[in-house]
Amino acid sequence: MPYRAEYIWIDGQKPTSKLRSKTKIVASGQEPPLWGFDGSSTEQASGELSDCVLRPVLVRPDPIRGNENVLVLCEVLTPDMEPHPSNTRAACVKTYEKYKDQDPWFGLEQEYTFFKDGRPHGWPIGGYPAPQGGYYCGIGSDEIWGRDVVENHTVACLEAGLEISGTNAEVMIGQWEFQIGPLDPVAVGDHLWMARWLLYRLAEDCDISAHLNPKPVEGDWNGAGMHANFSTAAMRESYEPIIAACEALGTKADEHVENYGAGIQRRLTGLHETAPWTEYSYGVSNRGASVRIPWQTAREQRGYIEDRRPNANADPYTVARLMTETICSALADE
Ligand code: ADP
Ligand code: MN
Ligand code: MN
Ligand code: MN
Repeated sequence: MPYRAEYIWIDGQKPTSKLRSKTKIVASGQEPPLWGFDGSSTEQASGELSDCVLRPVLVRPDPIRGNENVLVLCEVLTPDMEPHPSNTRAACVKTYEKYKDQDPWFGLEQEYTFFKDGRPHGWPIGGYPAPQGGYYCGIGSDEIWGRDVVENHTVACLEAGLEISGTNAEVMIGQWEFQIGPLDPVAVGDHLWMARWLLYRLAEDCDISAHLNPKPVEGDWNGAGMHANFSTAAMRESYEPIIAACEALGTKADEHVENYGAGIQRRLTGLHETAPWTEYSYGVSNRGASVRIPWQTAREQRGYIEDRRPNANADPYTVARLMTETICSALADE
């Protein structure tokens, strides 16, 4: 029997791309082939020259449809088979190839917020919920909303063979996190984008929507980030390269912040466990710094660093490319 392949790709919307997908029926025994779509409907082409090409980059069992069905994450190419301008993965591949010998690893913490009926899930009609404080890693129906979707999502990621490494309820009401990694700079983006798609898709079945808005509610409520944990082989062995990596990020702070997700200035205010976007800083255990050195890393004098600046809506390929380029080029000069 033919199987269903769900082709998933990243569109050309600005300032933040969104995911799209459609189904192809593929003959049994065949690999999912190259495919195409109407780029004029996704801000990736004009109506006169509308064709864009989908090239599979990650094929995994589809945990929702089961059987032989698959999820197919694709990169977008122009009809002459060049990377489309919206294809940020291609540049990430180039950077990774340049620094592969340093063996860079990423672990991404994807925070997100559930919305229901136009409000954060759990937010009462016509009033305010209890101030934040009890929701982080909370338990009980007065603190937790959407756990069924979270559980389904975790199982789905595992069944799809994605490198999910944990989940937790977050500080703001209706806000959650899952972590992907550690993986290389390209694979971490592939796994994260497929995990985002599964999250949206499973929430859809429960009439909830998951959002990556970096500051879903103004005021005294935490924003949503995508902390990027990073190491190279040298950083996993000694402390000097850990400090060198933190210093290197400081030399290109503006370029990084500009590419860490739309609306980052609204989130990196200096409050709610963030450093102000205008001032770069790093420190051991410091959740008010731009970059944190985890206490285990300081104690063992080796490990990884956490760039706390990327927004929840950041593009993981761009974040991974920039961090790899900035840190690995500095470590290569040491
Ligand atoms: P936090 O304390 O900031 O909430 P989490 O436990 O949510 O931390 O996330 C830590 C992330 O760091 C995980 O995704 C994990 O895979 C990743 N990680 C662990 N070790 C390394 C390493 N050596 N290099 C890169 N990432 C790592
Ligand atoms: Mn975390
Ligand atoms: Mn978090
Ligand atoms: Mn973190």
